[in-house]
Amino acid sequence: MTQRAPEATPAGAGPHGIAQRILESPSSATVRIADMAKTLRRQGVNVVDFSAGRASEHTPKYICQAASEAMMSGDTHQTMAQGTPEYRQACARKLRRENNMEADPETELIATFGCKNGLTLSLLAIMNPGDEVILEDPGFVSYAPTIQFFGGTPVPVPLEPDLNHRWREERLRAAVTDRTRAILFCSPHNPTGTVHTPEELDMIGRVARDHDLYVISDEIYERVTWGDHKHTCLATRPDMEGRVITLMGLTKTASMGGWRIGFAYAPPHVIEAMNTVQQHLTTCVGSFTQAGAAVAFGEEPKPELTGMWKDWAERCEYMTSELNALPGVSCAMPEGGFYGWADIRETGEGSEALAERLLKDHHVAVVPGSAFGGQGEGFLRITCVKSWEDLKEGVRRMKEALA
Ligand code: GLU
Repeated sequence: MTQRAPEATPAGAGPHGIAQRILESPSSATVRIADMAKTLRRQGVNVVDFSAGRASEHTPKYICQAASEAMMSGDTHQTMAQGTPEYRQACARKLRRENNMEADPETELIATFGCKNGLTLSLLAIMNPGDEVILEDPGFVSYAPTIQFFGGTPVPVPLEPDLNHRWREERLRAAVTDRTRAILFCSPHNPTGTVHTPEELDMIGRVARDHDLYVISDEIYERVTWGDHKHTCLATRPDMEGRVITLMGLTKTASMGGWRIGFAYAPPHVIEAMNTVQQHLTTCVGSFTQAGAAVAFGEEPKPELTGMWKDWAERCEYMTSELNALPGVSCAMPEGGFYGWADIRETGEGSEALAERLLKDHHVAVVPGSAFGGQGEGFLRITCVKSWEDLKEGVRRMKEALA
């Protein structure tokens, strides 16, 4: 038997209909373009892939070893929905050691499938249909669709280019209505690379307190900041108790994207609600992935990790300075994270047109800035933590394309 596709557009009711929320949602540009690059590679095309935020390294062996030992010794069953006590304790150790936070592993932490699942659980736990969530423009491609999936309304607030892609307080305040439930933001920021200082975090905190809002703080890139820029967790700032949901994960900084593992740190009543959602949605995060992740978070980062981060700084420096030297392009070193946010406005070409031309004619995959929101037009996002060979070849091809 083969599956039968309907002849007409699958909108509306009836056995062939697709839900309106999906029909109204764009696909994920980051994942779609990375998938396209993989498909082209399978077809024999030598694509240099700078699209999704995935480093070229594999997960360090000592972390794989821990997961593999767990699997071989029978750790192959579902765990508590909240995650294993060992994994949560490891996350609490990491927060104490690296982030100056005291989390109770029993009541304030939950294991998640990366930060995307952390966001899903958070939104289902705190947001009612019709509620509004304020988010950054440009911002991560999946935030707005995820809010919409659950009946919420995303309210993008432009970041200010003259503040190096941060919010101006008046603008943020002006976006708050009586339906606003939460502010969602990401630091180090995807896609612009901005790292919020404590003072800037305090501004977001003030607005949240004044209007009694939650803040969902996506800190997936927190272990990689460059130069003098340092990551500060919003939850450590004064008077933020009870309203911050911190999302962290290993996808980016331990090259563990395929493991789908992270955690959320939040007030106990929120964790309890997230746990209920997790029980119904997925039961729990993978058992042996939690065992590996417990080592990745629980132990002091080993040289396999710290050495990788050091090399990433060099690759980000190299790539952004090469991009900056391309005709019509300007690109600064990110303060944190590993994306080059390349301003292409002087080339006169739109971000989608240029991204498409780069992929089709030069076999270089990048993400058009427009995928990150209206304010992203005129930019390309380029992942800088690919192999040196790919970086050099990608730059060569981009030079050719922009000559
Ligand atoms: N979050 C990464 C990115 O921005 C990976 C792709 C994805 O999960 O969307 O590229």
